[in-house]
Amino acid sequence: MTHLLASPEDLIARLRIEGPDEIDVEAIAEFCGATVVYERLTGCEARLIGRKKRAYITVNESSPRPEQRFSVAHELGHWMQDHREIVTSCDEKALLTQWLRHNDEFWNCEFYANHYGAGLLLPTKILKPLVRELPVTFDSVKELSDLFQAPLTVTAIRLVDVTPFPAALVCSYYRVPSVDDDDVGFDLGRIIWGAKSGNGLVFLPLHPRPLEEMCRDTVAFRLLSSGFNSPVCPPAADVQASQWFDMPDLSGYTSPNYTISEHSIKLAHNLVLSLLWWKDPEQIARLRQDREVAWEEMG
Ligand SMILES: [Zn+2]
Repeated sequence: MTHLLASPEDLIARLRIEGPDEIDVEAIAEFCGATVVYERLTGCEARLIGRKKRAYITVNESSPRPEQRFSVAHELGHWMQDHREIVTSCDEKALLTQWLRHNDEFWNCEFYANHYGAGLLLPTKILKPLVRELPVTFDSVKELSDLFQAPLTVTAIRLVDVTPFPAALVCSYYRVPSVDDDDVGFDLGRIIWGAKSGNGLVFLPLHPRPLEEMCRDTVAFRLLSSGFNSPVCPPAADVQASQWFDMPDLSGYTSPNYTISEHSIKLAHNLVLSLLWWKDPEQIARLRQDREVAWEEMG
């Protein structure tokens, strides 16, 4: 059971931080008893050594500034869970790509520290007024990432958390099987990093659910299958919602043509991150009606 000493919101309120340029992560860490030092690290991005009320956070001096800031916030997340003797060493993968709870142990450490760090770098109180009418796209993410000096992936997570629109952030990947693997095909899949309903709307995460299997008629699939020469972040495009979401099954009923905005970015040769945005509120209302019809048909 995680014992929280102070949430990111507590710290932001207690230190009277009002704007993105006031989020001084080193000063916040010092306030919490953790001194930040920058050194050359090999094999990890950040390290935390703490006991009772004192801790030292060591961050890789050669990392880009947004990643360094997130490392500090992430390690502070570990530290704020517990002030007993603690030693952690976090690599880039844990810091930037692990957002889902896979098991209890994971949920209690890296997942928690990631969300704590994200909440501290992009606090809801400051972020919410800025994203109220902002499109859920990577153009907005880049703008916010510059403003808050936060990594792109972390900013995308927070945009989906805080936007008033129904939206989701999905990581698509393929894995080449090893020679020992019985399955000779590529392993294509999706991991849902974040999903939320809009204000007052019956929607995500319950209905419709983002699909975990990969569909071919998406920008993400084209990016994953197009090698290295394709643009890394083509413009946002409207795609069929059924390519991404589990839509109501309406036998004998003409389902309206649901579309969503997909903005995908290729982060690595085998990894694409997609922001999915239901920007038309009328479609959400229709979707709700369709689901009721589908339920009636099922008896
Ligand atoms: Zn960690």
